[in-house]
Amino acid sequence: MTFSTVKRFIAGVTCPKCSVMDKLRGYSEDGINFRECVACGFKDEMRVVSAPREIQTRVNTAKDNAVHRVDPIKLIDN
Ligand SMILES: [Zn+2]
Repeated sequence: MTFSTVKRFIAGVTCPKCSVMDKLRGYSEDGINFRECVACGFKDEMRVVSAPREIQTRVNTAKDNAVHRVDPIKLIDN
């Protein structure tokens, strides 16, 4: 995957240098993915193939639906 050239925050990612979460921004420059921390100035080239953020999977969605599922009830007015 390749980031946009626009710097965007990567949710749920902790900075490997200062350990602050949600301060990393990912962006692409000349076809290379970079991540930078706005808290400490850390910058790194990302060579990993996997996406840095958690992917919404069918398993996660199904579990959430099960938790929040509400069984319909009938109200009978006598
Ligand atoms: Zn940092």
